[in-house]
Amino acid sequence: MAECVYRHTAPDGRMYIGIAQEPATVRWANGKGYKDNPEFWKCICEVGWGAIKHEILVSGIDSWEARKIESDLIDLYDTLAPNGFNRCRDNPEINRVKHKKEVGRTYGFATVLNYWADHDGMKKYEMRCACGRVFRCRWEEITDDLSCDKCCRA
Ligand SMILES: [Zn+2]
Repeated sequence: MAECVYRHTAPDGRMYIGIAQEPATVRWANGKGYKDNPEFWKCICEVGWGAIKHEILVSGIDSWEARKIESDLIDLYDTLAPNGFNRCRDNPEINRVKHKKEVGRTYGFATVLNYWADHDGMKKYEMRCACGRVFRCRWEEITDDLSCDKCCRA
């Protein structure tokens, strides 16, 4: 079953990152899907569902990938309460392996110099390879033996 990662943005800038089986509008239920989230529900009642921006950030992915991305974006956009409407992470298993501070972390032969979210909401990395080359890659391209692919790594 295909899932998606979505974002709701309230007029005051607070965000909620979530995942759902497609179509996400079933999960959202025009806002009624968040009755169990007191802060978000309060906001929905105050401003109205129509005043909140709804975006599908990534679609057509499997559940595991969706949860990975969700956890990553909760960090990236800092949407945990009280900054945002996310109350907790849904996937403790992922949280164990996620690192909030990624700069300086190494993946294979590469060290993270910088990372940011692109317009599509996906995380991009600038890395320095052990050979000295600086390159960019997408978050989902990172592997345990990452390198710039131009050097003769072992
Ligand atoms: Zn290299």
